[in-house]
Amino acid sequence: MPSSAELDFNPQQPGTDADKAAGPPPFESWGRYPVYQAELKHLHWQGDFPRAIDGVHHGALAVGMGRSYGDVCLLKDGTLLDTTQMNRLLAFDAATGLLTAEAGITLAQILDFAVPRGYFLPVTPGTKYVTLGGAIANDIHGKNHHHAGTFGCHVTQFELVRSDGRRLFCTPLENSDYYAASIGGLGLTGVITWAQLRLKPIVSRKIDYQGIQFHGIEEFLELTRQAEHNEYTVSWVDVTSTGKNFCRGIFMQGDHSQAPAPLKPSPKPKLVFPMELPGFALNGFTVGAFNALFFNKQMKKRVSTQPDYEPFFYPLDAVLKWNKMYGKRGLLQFQYAIPWEHAREGTVAILQAVAKSGLASFLAVLKAFGDVPSPGMMSFPKPGITLALDFPIKPEKSFALFDRLAEMTHEFGGRLYPAKDARMTSTQFQAFYPQWERFARYKDPALTSGFWERVVGGQLGVRGGGR
Ligand SMILES: Cc1cc2nc3c(=O)[nH]c(=O)nc-3n(C[C@H](O)[C@H](O)[C@H](O)COP(=O)(O)OP(=O)(O)OC[C@H]3O[C@@H](n4cnc5c(N)ncnc54)[C@H](O)[C@@H]3O)c2cc1C
Repeated sequence: MPSSAELDFNPQQPGTDADKAAGPPPFESWGRYPVYQAELKHLHWQGDFPRAIDGVHHGALAVGMGRSYGDVCLLKDGTLLDTTQMNRLLAFDAATGLLTAEAGITLAQILDFAVPRGYFLPVTPGTKYVTLGGAIANDIHGKNHHHAGTFGCHVTQFELVRSDGRRLFCTPLENSDYYAASIGGLGLTGVITWAQLRLKPIVSRKIDYQGIQFHGIEEFLELTRQAEHNEYTVSWVDVTSTGKNFCRGIFMQGDHSQAPAPLKPSPKPKLVFPMELPGFALNGFTVGAFNALFFNKQMKKRVSTQPDYEPFFYPLDAVLKWNKMYGKRGLLQFQYAIPWEHAREGTVAILQAVAKSGLASFLAVLKAFGDVPSPGMMSFPKPGITLALDFPIKPEKSFALFDRLAEMTHEFGGRLYPAKDARMTSTQFQAFYPQWERFARYKDPALTSGFWERVVGGQLGVRGGGR
């Protein structure tokens, strides 16, 4: 057995001076960290892969909208294959809600088509600017995880193209091993060219919403129990407060309104974040003030309203490129899932560590995952509590905190979400995802990512894996 120090092999040092000196990278992840130079090629239709990687020597990776925060969608010195122009709708059955589209279509484009026809996404993340391929490759989750499971639960079939030219038709019954490996497969098993998704019927754009203030983890857990029947639940939590306000927040629950109302398409967003803020703009004081304002914006203990689905699901999409608020250094996200056995104590300990660190998290989202199994071999969610935190990058402070939080997650039997990660070590990854070696058998030898090189690379040969 190699020692844990050997396993912590890290072949790619992020953001080297050479990478930065080479000017703006052709493709950034949402956290804008790490900064990697790579060649960017565009796939225009399903037949472009694998021709696009002829003569490529440093590995390739399909990418979507770059809405992952860390390096699952980056590759140092390799070739990134932009899929967003491969975005045609291929088929739609109005009776069943089965929609087939090329993998580069965004969830925003699907909604523009589907909502006026009385259909909605079965699972949606907190932004609609992600591609169908990206949603499958990270097996994303939404506010309805406790009812609907992950995105992959609703993907009935897709085509996976391998670098040797094989075209695999994948369903839960046909090529079922590649189906399971590619849902949550981090883009490493091949390029998904098209997929079929089962949409859910709606009769209104409105959401029957309730926002409820809570103080402390016990109240959060009690509200979670009471809201078991609500399709959507999520909480914003104030991570800057201590003492009697420790772990206060707003519990948000909602369901699609059953009262029929016009199903118009959404207007296009008008606001774009205008500039990069200087590094000092987001500090303990400004973020603490924002958190206090957010909590007190809801004056009553409980409010009931009927908002449109846009502000309910996608409050951050109203301002495009809001990640620039974090300045040139960018931001790191940290998201764990801790199983019920240690969920309560783990969450309290991690929130205490964050409050004590003095590092302010602007956005902190707390949610209970349900027990609907995911079809993905490497999917992130598991029954318990998940907490997502955003931090501005201040290397000397935030990296140490991240490393500590990752260790705590490990100690409490939890795991971190690769889509939101730029820091976990190979030891941690391999403990969080012990099935990684089985997964590696399905990896395409021509494909790799910054994330994979960081957490596994050296152990399978630098571009290793595949069969
Ligand atoms: C504001 C915000 C809120 C978010 N909220 C949530 C949330 O609530 N829940 C959640 O789960 N996630 C959430 N995310 C993360 C986001 O949903 C995922 O990172 C998603 O995978 C991004 O999709 P993308 O199209 O941008 O793909 P990218 O980030 O470009 O790529 C993601 C992965 O998909 C792979 N990939 C992309 N296209 C293909 C393809 N055609 N074939 C094979 N592999 C492919 C890439 O190789 C990479 O590994 C959020 C992100 C943001 C910015």
